[in-house]
Amino acid sequence: MNAPFPTAPGPAPLVDPFARPITYLRVSVTDRCDFRCVYCMSEDMHFLPKAELLTLEEMARLCQAFIRRGVKKLRLTGGEPLVRRNVMWLVRELGGQLGCGLDELTLTTNGSQLVKYAGELKAAGVRRINVSLDTLDAPKFAAITRWGKLDQVLAGIAAAKAAGLAVKINAVALNGVNDGEFDRLIAWCGAEGHDLTLIEVMPMGEIGGEAGPGDRLAQYLPLSMVRADLRKRWTLEEIDYRTGGPARYWRVKETGGRLGFITPLTHNFCELCNRVRLTCTGTLYMCLGQEDSADLRTPLRASPDDAQLDGAIRDAIARKPKGHDFVIDRRHGVASVPRHMSVTGG
Ligand code: SAM
Repeated sequence: MNAPFPTAPGPAPLVDPFARPITYLRVSVTDRCDFRCVYCMSEDMHFLPKAELLTLEEMARLCQAFIRRGVKKLRLTGGEPLVRRNVMWLVRELGGQLGCGLDELTLTTNGSQLVKYAGELKAAGVRRINVSLDTLDAPKFAAITRWGKLDQVLAGIAAAKAAGLAVKINAVALNGVNDGEFDRLIAWCGAEGHDLTLIEVMPMGEIGGEAGPGDRLAQYLPLSMVRADLRKRWTLEEIDYRTGGPARYWRVKETGGRLGFITPLTHNFCELCNRVRLTCTGTLYMCLGQEDSADLRTPLRASPDDAQLDGAIRDAIARKPKGHDFVIDRRHGVASVPRHMSVTGG
């Protein structure tokens, strides 16, 4: 039997010049954070004036425009997403899109506010979250985060687990700082049932100069070396598990847990890139490691209908580059991308 009416074609899905479908949007809801991690921010960061920020309503509208064009996964990040005032309104609003184009809503957090928000996140439809935790040693944690308290974060992670959220722990590998900590993190994550991902430090943003906490060259620790060292004590079995992201996963036989490695410097993972990143001012970065960007705030505010916005999104995706070329510059030790991770959203 024929259908009574032809179905109206939806807006075309987003596909970049290298035939990669863009299905994943990461949204930095604020550039502010309650921590000052030494590899991420300088101690005296200058944040954006509030007047420049998109409202939460504008962010929701932008996200919906991407969902209409085929984005299936949204991740809220920052800065620290859970310190943006009233952020749970946005989480609930986006949670309402689950099953209506959106497959997954998730967030990356430092965990400091999870005791307060874990239950609400679950109720809004969030099923898994990433929590950044570079060490289980309290004094070291305080030194890395400058302002963070380990107890508060561990309580937050416990609250997330109790609320039924799957937690993946992300740890940035820092030479001479937490390189003696990975065994403890692996054992703890295995016992708690959390996946663990180790991340190479990326040269993003000025963080306070040479020979201090902001010395990128001194911080850099290739994960190929870390993995070789871990293999002396752990049995790592390569597995086919993929989350649609850049991590490659191994099973730690002794704990049964999954261990991922994100290696932007020793191994470029761009060929399958499906993501773009929106800042809290409405700037779209088509690549974490490149400077080209598109202003979506102007077309968003120009008109209540989305025609201009859709055109700006389409033009931006047509400029998505093939990949990043992060280098830790051994001669100059300078950031190869001037903006901080907290601006683009890590
Ligand atoms: N505040 C949230 C958090 O702590 O997860 C979300 C934002 S934070 C910028 C996201 C992730 O980026 C964290 O896991 C952080 O460790 C990581 N990150 C920040 N600067 C980085 C850098 N230069 N290289 C690698 N990872 C970095």
